[in-house]
Amino acid sequence: MPDCIFCKIAAGEIPASVVYEDDEILAFEDIHPVAPVHILLIPRRHLPSLDEAGEDSGPLLGRVLLAAARIAREKGIASRGYRVLTNCNADGGQEVFHLHFHLLGGRRLRALG
Ligand code: AMP
Ligand code: ZN
Repeated sequence: MPDCIFCKIAAGEIPASVVYEDDEILAFEDIHPVAPVHILLIPRRHLPSLDEAGEDSGPLLGRVLLAAARIAREKGIASRGYRVLTNCNADGGQEVFHLHFHLLGGRRLRALG
């Protein structure tokens, strides 16, 4: 997707502080962190949101979550705890329409609401 900022990051056209990458997944520091650890995980392939992920994306989504858990352990936040979430569409607060998961931790997070 030519105008998608996360596609550009995945293609290396826009710089990002990458913490993990493989054939299918990229993880990088959020540019406006809201917690001491705030990492975004994206599938390299453009998918606008979780709402548009089909059954065929199941294994990929599972790998994204497992990558988040691995990064949390590497960052040393796993035992105290962390949060993995995706904002979907307008009411979910989604601003970048390339599916991504936030990995948040390093401080006590407030309840969702
Ligand atoms: P949302 O779509 O609301 O789930 O969140 C989009 C997230 O992307 C926000 O937390 C932004 O700070 C983050 N973001 C936007 N542009 C960049 C960028 N170029 N590099 C890293 N993070 C970004
Ligand atoms: Zn994209």
